[in-house]
Amino acid sequence: MFSPLNSILGIFSRDIGIDLGTANTLVLVRGVGIVINEPSVVAVEKRAKRVLAIGAEAKQMVGRTPADIVAIRPLRDGVISDFDVTEKMLEYFITKVHDQALLPIPHRPRIVIGIPSGVTEVEKRAVHDAAMNAGAREVFLIEEPMAAAIGSGLPITESIGSMIVDIGGGTTEMAVFSLGGIVVSRSIRVAGDEMDEEIIRYAREKYNVLIGERMAEELKVSIGSAFPLTEEKTQMLRGRNLITGLPTEIEVSSVEIREALANPLDQIIDALKTTIDETPPELVSDLMQYGIALAGGGALLGNIAARLSQETKMRCYVSEDPLTCVVRGAGQVLEELDTLHKIITPTRGRR
Ligand code: ADP
Ligand code: MG
Repeated sequence: MFSPLNSILGIFSRDIGIDLGTANTLVLVRGVGIVINEPSVVAVEKRAKRVLAIGAEAKQMVGRTPADIVAIRPLRDGVISDFDVTEKMLEYFITKVHDQALLPIPHRPRIVIGIPSGVTEVEKRAVHDAAMNAGAREVFLIEEPMAAAIGSGLPITESIGSMIVDIGGGTTEMAVFSLGGIVVSRSIRVAGDEMDEEIIRYAREKYNVLIGERMAEELKVSIGSAFPLTEEKTQMLRGRNLITGLPTEIEVSSVEIREALANPLDQIIDALKTTIDETPPELVSDLMQYGIALAGGGALLGNIAARLSQETKMRCYVSEDPLTCVVRGAGQVLEELDTLHKIITPTRGRR
């Protein structure tokens, strides 16, 4: 029934999709679009265990914090290292778009959350409860590769095989789909963070220069690549010389950064080959025909599609807007929640 009160409350009870990533959290409001895109970082005062900042503001503090303040990435390895911090972060992002935890239950939003496929049942419960506490009416958890595949527009419910490789910050997740299910999947703790660490190691070993995580990431994003570039690039690397102790600047080339990234890339390629090996032949032939989609921030690494195509002998391509695939996939699930509701039970039912 139409009532003015209902229509006002309706504005506040739009369903929400969340990508709870190891590096970035994105929030989408049904009918509106992506409203939050911030690092999954929480700055905590160690002694008092008090949260000082969350998201972009907290990431600014990484590597710059006084001894008593730590910047935590609670999902860094694709598992939840700190329940309390994860809960605070999730609550913060949800209430930022929906500050109505005390609405009558029918007016609270339903929330679909994409979580790394490595998290345990206990961790899933923690995420579920945190979202309920933040004011959800119902919470649906979806594995990130599934959400990424939906967001990439893969025909996962059809009888043809399709495949996604999602290279995030802490984890690379890959999965082959057919008839709405995951046929083969794999998750490894090698992705963007590991690449940054390798760049730090390279700078130290080759130039005796200590650089921070942010400098390393900047080098990776601006000149990193997985395959020779038509025009190789250079960039200044700034850090501290470990012998003199003085700040220093060195011009490094994309060829050097590629050398630094060789090891994590090899590990991703190995996992990909193994996953393809385990895929039933009929589905492999579908992959040969339709290709393999790449999502996540790592899909933006220079020439990564060319490299993976060469290694797998299959056409690998970067999905449109790879950083938002998971949250857009969660958004698509929201659109179908009314129909889905009949076949999947909310996680609440599994207690
Ligand atoms: P997650 O889903 O784990 O939160 P994302 O999909 O948001 O991760 O990807 C974050 C990772 O992608 C970070 O390691 C970041 O450095 C990396 N990244 C972002 N843009 C680029 C780029 N242009 N080239 C290479 N790596 C990138
Ligand atoms: Mg992700």
